[in-house]
Amino acid sequence: MISPPIHKQDFIVGEVALVGAGPGDPDLLTLQAFRFIKQADVVIYDRLVSQEIMALLPTQCEKIYVGKKQAEHRVPQEGINQLLVDHARLNKKVVRLKGGDPFVFGRGGEEAQFLLKNDIACHIVPGITAASACSSYAGIPLTHRQVAQSCTLITGHVQENGALDLPWQTLNDSKQTIVFYMGIKSLPIITAQLIQAGRNKETPASLIRKGTHSDQQVIKGTLTDLEALVKQHNIKPPSLIIIGDVVNTFNSYQLQNLGYLSTKIN
Ligand code: SAH
Repeated sequence: MISPPIHKQDFIVGEVALVGAGPGDPDLLTLQAFRFIKQADVVIYDRLVSQEIMALLPTQCEKIYVGKKQAEHRVPQEGINQLLVDHARLNKKVVRLKGGDPFVFGRGGEEAQFLLKNDIACHIVPGITAASACSSYAGIPLTHRQVAQSCTLITGHVQENGALDLPWQTLNDSKQTIVFYMGIKSLPIITAQLIQAGRNKETPASLIRKGTHSDQQVIKGTLTDLEALVKQHNIKPPSLIIIGDVVNTFNSYQLQNLGYLSTKIN
């Protein structure tokens, strides 16, 4: 039996492609993503899409920025959804370009649901997510035999009332790596709650700012001192937090030998 293609590949007018642009370094764009963006008539893109990737877009395509910062939503999600539908109905090839992977904290699921509800065909093009890319570029394996047997990707985005309602008791396994997306603002809550849930306060913890970009920064500390280090160096988003013994898999000498050139602050 011949299996049908697992992924529809042809991009035709009136369709939308939700494309993952990866974490920043254009070398990490997939060939599939590249093929879709090269055909785009209009690209609706986010703040996290790097300049280098924007430079790969066809010169004649229309570019619409809908980026948002925490607490300062430029275009509300409903507006973005409608924009996608409106442009598809103009018989264009519409690319919705997102940082990382559309299905990892990227609202790709919501946008695809809305498109399908409006009878618009939609492609999902995966991208390299920040957890995978930042960990590689900082020399931190997310899992490592005998050190970390599982890895959780979790949001650190606080609700409007300032709360961060997470299942802390499920995060207290010392052999579990935890990766927080959108966690820089809530770092004090994260570290305090993890210690309260039973993680050792000396658990290694790292923060990677602008991972894979030429100005990537990596801070390493522990659950106890990471927050102070981040404050001291005035680190801003976008930043990813990796917590667990894997953070110390390689020492700085080994990292140099592995070819890591990024600025390591501590
Ligand atoms: N869909 C994206 C995640 C979007 S949520 C993905 O799969 O990667 C936005 C959060 O992702 C940021 O707050 C930050 O925590 C993380 N992030 C994305 N790109 C990053 C980068 N280059 N360096 C560090 N963190 C990044």
